[in-house]
Amino acid sequence: MSSERPRGLLLVVSSPSGAGKTTLCNRLREEFPSIGFSVSYTTRKPRPGETDGVEYHFVSGERFQEMIADDEFAEYAMVHGNMYGTAAGLVSTALANGRDILFDIDFQGGRQLRRSFPEEVVLVFILPPSLRELERRLRRRATDSDEVIAQRLKVARSELAHYDEYDYLIVNDELDRAYDALRAVYVGALHRRQRQAAVAQQLIEGQEELPW
Ligand code: ADP
Ligand code: 5GP
Repeated sequence: MSSERPRGLLLVVSSPSGAGKTTLCNRLREEFPSIGFSVSYTTRKPRPGETDGVEYHFVSGERFQEMIADDEFAEYAMVHGNMYGTAAGLVSTALANGRDILFDIDFQGGRQLRRSFPEEVVLVFILPPSLRELERRLRRRATDSDEVIAQRLKVARSELAHYDEYDYLIVNDELDRAYDALRAVYVGALHRRQRQAAVAQQLIEGQEELPW
């Protein structure tokens, strides 16, 4: 039985573009400011309003390849024709410090993190209520050109086909309801036996306080 400090939780949230994962993740970060957010590296160009180091670290293709060669990514993948990757250092530090991290990454990234950290990863997939509503949201967001929106809708169905690699599926129909479900998944994961074992051990052993 372990009385070690629990490692951080790696909460991966994926969805086809436009289904609402950024909106839901932002709400979770507002309610739980102690959750860290993994700011990915990407070769995509910034959209209007995006700031380097906030939504992403925007890097050149050349720099991204150097980072791959130097083993600087916990996972990386090509998504919609651009490269995206998660900094390895951030993940290992968070795990060691017991800090929870939220990841807005695609199924390829979720799959790689699950392989590397099977005990700590929780995979959540956000589904749109319909493909028509997905298109409406992409158009309303007005951040992408018609061509990019058409491309994103085309790949949405193949992304949805990966639902069976996820632990939880949440339909983002009504935002408050979907947020309640995401919150429940996070809070539930925090209370898994593996994470709370040290508290039970402390009581059994009669220690007054946990050592961290
Ligand atoms: P993603 O990060 O998955 O690409 P966003 O969070 O940017 O998606 O959401 C896409 C658009 O849909 C945004 O304009 C957002 O405000 C809107 N949106 C998100 N959730 C809902 C919802 N439940 N109902 C209606 N619109 C929503
Ligand atoms: P966007 O360009 O719209 O911000 O993101 C496009 C897609 O890339 C989204 O599905 C997002 O989840 C995914 N993505 C963002 N960062 C990463 C990452 O570091 N790794 C992987 N595998 N996917 C990412």
